[in-house]
Formats: sequence, structure tokens, C-alpha cells
Amino acid sequence: MINHHFDDVPRSYLFSEVARRVQTYRQAHPDKSLIHMGIGDVTRPLCPPVVQAMQAASAEQGQADSFRGYGPEQGYPFLRQAISGYYESMGVQVDPADIFVSDGAKSDLGNLPDLFTTDCRVLIPDPVYPVYRDTNLMAGRPVAYLDATRENGFLPLPDDSLDAQLIYLCSPGNPTGAAYDKAGLTRWVEYAREHDAVILYDAAYESFIRSGVPRTIYEIPGAEECAIEVCSLSKTAGFTGTRCGYTVVPRTLVREGMNLHDMWLRRQSTKMNGVAYPVQRAAEAVFTPAGLAGCRESIDAYLRSAAVVARVLDDLGIWYCGGKDSPYLWMECPRGMDSWAFFDALLENAGVVGTPGSGFGRNGEGYFRLSAFAGEQQAAEAMARMADWLRRG
Ligand code: PLP
Repeated sequence: MINHHFDDVPRSYLFSEVARRVQTYRQAHPDKSLIHMGIGDVTRPLCPPVVQAMQAASAEQGQADSFRGYGPEQGYPFLRQAISGYYESMGVQVDPADIFVSDGAKSDLGNLPDLFTTDCRVLIPDPVYPVYRDTNLMAGRPVAYLDATRENGFLPLPDDSLDAQLIYLCSPGNPTGAAYDKAGLTRWVEYAREHDAVILYDAAYESFIRSGVPRTIYEIPGAEECAIEVCSLSKTAGFTGTRCGYTVVPRTLVREGMNLHDMWLRRQSTKMNGVAYPVQRAAEAVFTPAGLAGCRESIDAYLRSAAVVARVLDDLGIWYCGGKDSPYLWMECPRGMDSWAFFDALLENAGVVGTPGSGFGRNGEGYFRLSAFAGEQQAAEAMARMADWLRRG
């Protein structure tokens, strides 16, 4: 009667253990200041055009002549059109009819496996955002892991020894901040097309890309026949608490005679009743020139914090990736420490909190995630303390 596969899912230990150790430290050192460099949430507010749009739409809901009840399950056409325009600004054609508005990337990433059988062979990079693994383990699907390591820049590529049907890719990645270039993504698209696999591409951090690597998998020819792209306004526009995202399921994606777009529409219209109208109006405002400029200001600020962190790691001669097209920096723990040993030592000696890499998978052991969502000053202070401690020896 009960789904015992829930027993296969590792307990979510990482952030509760971080909180427990921080609490212990606070009790022992009530007078010491702590800097949080482990935050995975945004810290800057919504920009004014977005707030104004949400307020105006909320007011509409209070008037008989503008009130709206249930909206279209796939999202309002005005928002799907705006998202399609955003893709166009990246030089990519995505038909509004292929776009599904959601309450965020996590729900869609968790729900998309409904389109696949429970014996479908899933491939997930390690280390990675744990939702991909946990959602498949809950359904009892066999999961294989793909090693992301320092040697491959934490950007593993396919080879013919792989036997995967459903492949998760995240670029720029969480936790590593590493982003695939065109050649790397082309390899994946070619693999998926040759093997009739499907790529679930998580582009939640695309708006941080400044280096010219692809911001969408649809920059790669043929991706519309093998890839679903999941994106979110959480990091793009500070919507972590407002909740809105979007997923592209191209109508050209067909496997075993089944059209995945039609299946997803059927699934969503059966199990979901859309996203709040004021939130969709707020999301529409993100894609106006004023909205895009406001969001860019926040992302630029996060990237400045990331640059502060990167500079100090460079000075210290510590290997890292990320931080250029991403709010995350993924550093090797100094002195051969394991992830938790470095967490404890950094906390004790510098009063800085980060995230142990081992919490994101086996290959994360010996690495550590720093995030740039704390302000620039906080980042500078945290890194000065880390450098001071490491140089003291
Ligand atoms: N994908 C990745 C890689 C993430 O890091 C996160 C959130 O941290 C999400 C998806 C979830 O995004 P959302 O807030 O849209 O659910």
C-alpha cells in the first residue's frame, strides 16, 4: 500500500546539519559575528516595475469588471508571448505554444518524470542539485551517476559506454557554477538524438551568464527534438518567494510514437490549475525593458560579490570553478581537508559559513560551495577573514 521507495531517498541532512553546527558555534561564541556564504536564496528585493505590475493585477482581482477566475493551465498567453520574446533576444525561436508557465523549476523538475516509465534509465551528474536524484528515487527509478570531477571541469561529457534514456543537465550548475560551452552541449544533443534519449535541461541560472556560453539548450541545432528546458524566475528576477517559472516542451519532441508536449499538457491540465494571475503579470513585467534592466542590476551585484570571492581564491592559489557565469563558486578544500572538516575549520577560525560539497554527491567530497548572494561587503569581509586564517597557517 505504501511507496517504500521513500526509504531509498537519503535523509535531507545537508542544510539541517549546517544549521545544527552553526547553532552550536553561536552558543559557544555569542559575541562573534558570522557571515553566511552558503545562501542559496536571493537577498535583493523584486525590482519596482515587477512590484507595480503585481500590485495593479491584485487590484484588478478586487474589481468586478476585471476579476479573473481560473486561468489557462499552460499560463496566460501574454506571459508565454513575453517568454518567447525573451528567447528571441537570445537568438532562439521558441513558439509560445511550446511554453508552460509553472510555479517554479523545482515543481516541474519533480513532475516531468511522470512522462517516463519507472524502469526508464536515468542519468544524473554527481555532484548536482539533489532534486533530480530524490524525485527519481521516490518513484523507484534506477539512477546512474555521471562523474563530474576536477579533471572534466565538473562538466562531464557523454561517451558510448553510457546507456541512458533520461539525462539531467544543469548549466550553469548548482553547486559547481560550471557552465557548458556550445561544443559540450552539442555533444549531449548528438548523444540524445543518436540514442533516442531525452535531456532535461535546467537553466535556472542562465541569467548569470556573461561569457557567451549558451543560455539555452535550444541554441544547439536539433535540441528541439531531444530536450526539455526548465527555467525559473527565482534567480533571474528574485522570485524565490513569489514563485514563477517556465518549461519548454517542444511539439517536435517525440519518443516511441508519443508526443511529449501533448503528454505534458495532459498531465498539467489534470494535476495543476495554473499560477496566480498577479504573479503572471509580475512575471510579464520581468521581460519588459525596465524589468530586464532592474533584474540585471541585481544579478550584476551578485556577480560583483562572486568576483570578490574569486579574486581572493586566486590570490590564495586555491583551485575553483564557477563564479563567472554563476552565483556559486566551487572550491577545493585547502590542505587536503574533507568538506565537513573545512566547514568546521572555516567556521571556527573565520566565523564564515559555507556549504560542504559532499552534501551534493560523492564527487563533492573535498570541495566546498561559496555563494555570492550575500552582499559585496559581506563577501569581502568573509574572504578577508578566510585569507587571514589560511595565511596565519
Ligand atoms: N534548479 C536549480 C539548479 C536550483 O538551484 C534551484 C533552486 O535553488 C531550482 C532549480 C529551483 O528553482 P525554483 O525556485 O524555481 O523552484
